[in-house]
Amino acid sequence: MFQALCHTVDSFVGTNKNRENIMTSDEAKQKLIDAGRILEAEGQGDLTRGHVSVRVPGDSSLFFMKPHSHGFDEITMENIVICNLEGEKVGGGGRRHSEVFIHSEIFKARPDVTSVIHSHPTYAVALSATGKSMRPISQPSVAFSDGLPYFNDTINLIRTKNLGAGVARALGSCKAVLMRNHGVALAGATLEESTILAIMLDNACKIQLLAESAGGIGAVFPPEYIKELHDAITQPEQYAINFEFLRRKVLRSTTR
Ligand SMILES: [Zn+2]
Repeated sequence: MFQALCHTVDSFVGTNKNRENIMTSDEAKQKLIDAGRILEAEGQGDLTRGHVSVRVPGDSSLFFMKPHSHGFDEITMENIVICNLEGEKVGGGGRRHSEVFIHSEIFKARPDVTSVIHSHPTYAVALSATGKSMRPISQPSVAFSDGLPYFNDTINLIRTKNLGAGVARALGSCKAVLMRNHGVALAGATLEESTILAIMLDNACKIQLLAESAGGIGAVFPPEYIKELHDAITQPEQYAINFEFLRRKVLRSTTR
């Protein structure tokens, strides 16, 4: 069920060009700030570790990224870092994360991807420690039913181009990869997609771990049911609606 059946890369390229054309750099930066606040509020933070990035509108060879030494919810217009596809900092006020190569190598390998997230969410790390494949036993898990591969090369930080390229290779054409004993990497056609998928992936892992520890997984619905649900919940509109809901939720909690 979860072998690599992920979408083809070419099918999204034209769509992304259109999206880039309608967003300004400041709008992309603001969305990165919003995504960071959402990710922190939804439990994706691990101290100051973890990062989120989005390509610079109109220039797919550059990307905006969360700065080192700050939490997901501390991204500002001033501290956002600008990097190129070699992983070098070329602008912005903050310090560059040493694991920038997860982002630069995925962007290099996947022209269809506009946003990358790397985080250490508790339940996803726990499932990765079991070495088990994800099963299609909940709605969030079905979002990954077209493939959720493992990256097994190291538990350590991804501080070289070679290791970053290894993560990108393991990801292949999928939406996400489980980095064994370390975390996850998500690749989205939009920042909304990568953000919502990060949250759905950890929820899916939590449900599977609960089911397995409560006596094991029972009957699973047939593939045609899974495919139908997958196609429904991975629509771009679903990501946009849920991102906007979480943006409003964070706003409400900070203005009370
Ligand atoms: Zn990490």
